[in-house]
Amino acid sequence: MVVVGGGIAGVSTVAELRKGGYAGELVLVSADAVPYDRPPLSKAYLAGEKSLDAIALQHPDWYADQQVLLVGGTVAVAVRPEVGEVELADGRVLSADRIVLATGGRAVRPAFGEVRRDAPVHVLRDVADADRLRTQLVPGARLLIVGGGLIGAEVASTARGLGAEVVLVDPLDPPLAAAVGTEVARWLHGLHAEHGVEALTTTVETLLETRAGVAVQLKGEPDSREFDAVLVAVGLVPETGLAEAAGLETSRGILVDSGQVTSHPSVLAVGDCARLRDHRRAEHWEAAQRDGARAAATILQSEPLPATAPWWWSDRYGLHVEGVGEMRSADAEHRTVVRGVVGEPPFAAFTLRGERVVGAVTVDDPAATKAVRRLIDRGVDVRPADLADPAQNLRTLLRR
Ligand SMILES: Cc1cc2nc3c(=O)[nH]c(=O)nc-3n(C[C@H](O)[C@H](O)[C@H](O)COP(=O)(O)OP(=O)(O)OC[C@H]3O[C@@H](n4cnc5c(N)ncnc54)[C@H](O)[C@@H]3O)c2cc1C
Repeated sequence: MVVVGGGIAGVSTVAELRKGGYAGELVLVSADAVPYDRPPLSKAYLAGEKSLDAIALQHPDWYADQQVLLVGGTVAVAVRPEVGEVELADGRVLSADRIVLATGGRAVRPAFGEVRRDAPVHVLRDVADADRLRTQLVPGARLLIVGGGLIGAEVASTARGLGAEVVLVDPLDPPLAAAVGTEVARWLHGLHAEHGVEALTTTVETLLETRAGVAVQLKGEPDSREFDAVLVAVGLVPETGLAEAAGLETSRGILVDSGQVTSHPSVLAVGDCARLRDHRRAEHWEAAQRDGARAAATILQSEPLPATAPWWWSDRYGLHVEGVGEMRSADAEHRTVVRGVVGEPPFAAFTLRGERVVGAVTVDDPAATKAVRRLIDRGVDVRPADLADPAQNLRTLLRR
């Protein structure tokens, strides 16, 4: 078995295979010498509070203990499922009965004019990106963040903590409404101004490298502004190159079935690079981890994990935000119920379809997220007044 890609999806695949009793050879090809976790890259790692060792997905000894051959620091350049081969950049060819692609994605880099590759215009996907960005986050440094989604907002918070001056632009007002609902999104976005970030509803027209940094023309402003650094945080492109070259079906991701199998029966795909047919890609940590477990179950022909509502978390300005299921704006079918007061954590907002919760966002209330996830998974009918009442223990609603 050869797994290509050492993010959470790839590492979870090999871990779950061993846990499930897979006794064959297992090779993990990882571009990084030792696989590490990505969420801290915009939080504690970027802030300098955690080292690379501290964010390793597994202790380096774990791979040998689990009899996983970690081929680190190199990439696969071709997969040939019809002959069962994976070719590495260093010329080695690995043989594989089955191949699992766990190649993640790249940060989108829109073309905002002419900037050299070494200009201080950053994206944030890997440790090298985080290291480059961190050298610029010094007190008084002027940082422009393009994109007010989860990663842009986390970096704004971290950069303020490091003393940088931050301007954040996004064409949406507020950003993230689709993920957390308009009311919570507006409050979350408002936190930027409370923490000294200038948040603007606009876009970048051009970036121009100058001797001092980057001159940025924002849409609707008469003059350009000078920044020491720019972070572009506008989304992810799934890494599908190996799959495409191998003739696998791709469309905004490597297309997979519910067992993570691609259009070739001996190739599976997991995590941010994969997309379940007729669904959106999740692009969240736990979804990638669960993909790995599902792929392992397919390979082992064991019972797959039960389906569960998708879950994610994010941190900004000392607050912990979690989302589960699907938040929707209120319409003929959906209504929003708030538990507590938006803006006074802990609180939660729910989307209900009829008597069923279909999504929730919570701030500083992980226990509520856990309970709501079970309500969603079990399809329990609830009374909106019970959900809204902070004195009502949500777990008791599960007994109905
Ligand atoms: C800065 C940041 C913060 C985040 N914060 C959160 C958060 O707070 N909460 C949350 O739920 N999610 C968060 N996420 C999202 C989460 O980290 C991703 O969904 C998750 O990392 C996806 O895992 P993956 O294994 O599919 O892909 P990745 O983590 O991208 O791993 C893929 C790996 O494959 C390697 N690779 C690619 N091609 C090859 C090849 N040809 N050969 C060998 N290796 C290859 C890549 O280098 C990479 O190491 C964050 C993401 C980022 C970037």
